[in-house]
Amino acid sequence: MAEQKRDYYEVLGVDRNASEEDIKKAYRKLAKKYHPDVNPGDKEAEKKFKEASEAYAVLSDSEKRRQYDQFGHSAFDGTGGFGGAGGFDFSGTDFGDIFGDLFGDMFGGGRSRTSRSGPMKGSNIRTSVRISFKEAVFGCEKTLTLNLKDPCPTCNGTGAKPGTSPKICPKCQGKGQVVYTQQSFFGTVKNVQACPQCNGSGKVIEDKCTTCGGSGYTSSRKTIKVTIPAGIDNGQSVRIREKGEPGINGGPRGDLLVEVIVAQDPKFYRQEYDIYSTVGISYAVAALGGTVVIDTVDGQVLYDVKAGTQTDTRVRLKGKGVPTLQNKQIRGDHYITLVIETPSKLSKEAKELLKQFDALTGDSLNAAQKAGEGKEETNETRGKHWKFRK
Ligand SMILES: [Zn+2]
Ligand SMILES: [Zn+2]
Repeated sequence: MAEQKRDYYEVLGVDRNASEEDIKKAYRKLAKKYHPDVNPGDKEAEKKFKEASEAYAVLSDSEKRRQYDQFGHSAFDGTGGFGGAGGFDFSGTDFGDIFGDLFGDMFGGGRSRTSRSGPMKGSNIRTSVRISFKEAVFGCEKTLTLNLKDPCPTCNGTGAKPGTSPKICPKCQGKGQVVYTQQSFFGTVKNVQACPQCNGSGKVIEDKCTTCGGSGYTSSRKTIKVTIPAGIDNGQSVRIREKGEPGINGGPRGDLLVEVIVAQDPKFYRQEYDIYSTVGISYAVAALGGTVVIDTVDGQVLYDVKAGTQTDTRVRLKGKGVPTLQNKQIRGDHYITLVIETPSKLSKEAKELLKQFDALTGDSLNAAQKAGEGKEETNETRGKHWKFRK
């Protein structure tokens, strides 16, 4: 038996009076989330995608929607409807415009290449820059050197030898696109792709420009200044407008996206806008109290440690953390963990004084001996001792 089908409106999460626009919007959202290209191998997502696509195929078509509203799923059952035993028939549903702009952005530049006319923005370029911990905290300026394309000055970007002009592509008749009919897991889908012969330009060049070899572009090393804002974190990117690939048909250049890689700092560790560090204090300062010098990103500060401070005590320096990206006057905090350092090298005199100190403060050095006093050492206890040590 067939599985109970969910209501199409419920599948898309729209109400029964939803407009065409609402239905399209709802479907776009679901398709983006569950598309098999985004969830490879995920059967559950595939099922959801199929379900949503089917609901959209019906509800986006006013005639099918009318039938569905009247008869429910049974409108498409049996031989009279357009549902077959093997699955749902998607013919007549145009997914092209949905997937066109859904995935154009995700697969970078795909959209601009499939278009044949009108000004189009060029593709974005990605690069990265390494900065230090403090440069990330306070912001900095960096100079990048990279190869950037420009329209070829000899042919003005056409790629054709001066005096000649590109011809209309014979494969796509200048459309720049070819339509493939594809059998996919949810039926027949029309797929529009960039023409392989002209790469979507709609034109082929017979006499190539010798300066650019027909590409229409020349490449040169350029230096670009990047202003990195205070508070930026590892992995975040700075966008520099119109420093990407040249636009198409007079469109604006794409953008340059500079990913920031922040070096680790030997002293400071960052989480969000807070900074963490560890400061060692002597036993004497911990016990008696005293002033210690603490390194912060703003320089050294003096901090008064209270008498009787335990190891791993955490101290907060308010507003000494990382400036927020939104407003550099607003900063996170700096948390310091005070750790008591045990001396490993002591002079004979210091050792002697420490023994005296110990005798005055609980005599811990002789505690074990005291605990054993009055108890006879037997084979049993000796054995246990030995066992324990091992
Ligand atoms: Zn050229
Ligand atoms: Zn073509």
